[in-house]
Amino acid sequence: MKTIDELLAEGVAGKRVFVRADLNVPLDGTTITDDGRIRAVLPTVKALAVAGARVVVASHLGRPDGAPDAKYSLAPAAARLGELLGTDVAFATDTVGESARTTVAGLVDGQVAVIENLRFNAGETSKDDAERKAFAEQLAQLADLYIGDGFGAVHRKHASVFDLPALLPHAAGHLIATEVRVLKKLTDEVKRPYVVVLGGAKVSDKLAVIDKLLGKADRILIGGGMAYTFLKAQGHEVGISLLQEDQIPAVTEYMERAEKNGVELVLPVDVLVSSDFPDLKTKAPADFETVDADKIPSDKEGLDIGPKTRELYATKITDAETVFWNGPVGVFEHPDYAGGTTAIAQALLDSSAFTVVGGGDSAAAVRTLGFDENAFGHISTGGGASLEYLEGKTLPGLAALED
Ligand code: AMP
Repeated sequence: MKTIDELLAEGVAGKRVFVRADLNVPLDGTTITDDGRIRAVLPTVKALAVAGARVVVASHLGRPDGAPDAKYSLAPAAARLGELLGTDVAFATDTVGESARTTVAGLVDGQVAVIENLRFNAGETSKDDAERKAFAEQLAQLADLYIGDGFGAVHRKHASVFDLPALLPHAAGHLIATEVRVLKKLTDEVKRPYVVVLGGAKVSDKLAVIDKLLGKADRILIGGGMAYTFLKAQGHEVGISLLQEDQIPAVTEYMERAEKNGVELVLPVDVLVSSDFPDLKTKAPADFETVDADKIPSDKEGLDIGPKTRELYATKITDAETVFWNGPVGVFEHPDYAGGTTAIAQALLDSSAFTVVGGGDSAAAVRTLGFDENAFGHISTGGGASLEYLEGKTLPGLAALED
């Protein structure tokens, strides 16, 4: 894979460089609640601007329906990018229309522009190859070179991720190069013991990665909403906890395979339960109790791992050489159920292992819970992308940068 350094060495001054970034930040109205993804693309944007390129940054945000929708505008992200760069960033109010064309034509060497949300055009995500390609061809008019740096989107076969690099000389940006180097340490060059912590809401999202990890990891620690499908598969009452009944056969097979392969698959031994899901807006104090994981009352739901589990998981992490963590182990958005996720983050920091936090919610959790993200080995910007990489899948956005 050609990297941005090679492209810079060849010279980019005066060239229009299209940077496919991932500026898909969480928004509360127009306020960005976590700007981690914007900061992650700074090294690439800065390097290109310093080298005199005319930088055109593009991204998706949320899931608009293939048409403009003000609530998914990239304008707040463009403004934040400008603040972080300490310079004015031009903003085009469309993707390939009049505004994009004039904005890009108006760029001077070293200047940066952001074009509007790529998903405001149906061609971006279309399943129809011709429709996607047509949009990619319009995007190609805006640039001379392409840099892929939106790691959070590389598992998507989308026009700006997959089709556009085929139309322009291309290379991987600093972020993608780093993400791939780190993920290789979890697949090809793993140091043992290799411990994986998996949380999040749905077990179905994690089945493929568990399947793969059963041949790779030494220990898999399960938390979050997905733990209850495992507990149910072991024959325990899980009350009104999140449960995916249809996944019980798969989960049962995984537990059997783990045993056969000598992989420790560890489940919560106690949990915090309540009759009600907490109010995440007001964060009003929750009414909860701690119970053993095999004694969940039938009218209660589990919302976080309990104190005994936090201690158990910390001891399972202490001697690790490599740790991968994806998914909060409780409803961390509410302070009463953030303790388990905090304990996992702390255990990662306390261990001397190479620690990778795998994207999306777990990365946001680490930051919103007040941890110093630099203390972790690596915080991935792509939850889905990092999981699919670990599953061994070919990621369209990486494959497109290969040739
Ligand atoms: P995911 O997007 O799959 O990584 O899931 C993240 C979400 O899982 C977060 O919003 C958490 O609040 C939620 N979550 C974690 N543990 C639980 C649980 N025990 N019950 C319900 N939701 C949970």
